[in-house]
Amino acid sequence: MAAKGRIIIEQDKCKGCDLCTHYCPVNILELDTSTTNALGYTPLKVTDPDKCIACSFCAMMCPDGVITVERFNK
Ligand code: SF4
Ligand code: SF4
Repeated sequence: MAAKGRIIIEQDKCKGCDLCTHYCPVNILELDTSTTNALGYTPLKVTDPDKCIACSFCAMMCPDGVITVERFNK
C-alpha cells in the first residue's frame, strides 16, 4: 500500500529558492506567483495535495525548515 501524506508549509518562512520543487517525485510543488509572503518572497504552494506520497524529499531539501510532512496510511 502506498503511503499517503500531507505537507504543511510555513509560507512566511519560505524564501522562494525553488529548490524543493525539483525534488518532488509526483510534481505537486511550485512557487505561488500570485502572492508574496512576509519576507517579500514568492512562497511555495502545493498544486495537488491528494497526490503527496509522504516521501519527505521536499522537507529534506529545504534549507530553512519550511516544510513539515505528515504521513498516514489508508
Ligand atoms: S513529501 Fe514527497 S510527494 Fe509530498 S510534496 Fe514533498 S516531495 Fe512531494
Ligand atoms: S526549499 Fe524551502 S525556502 Fe526554498 S522554495 Fe522550497 S520551501 Fe521555500
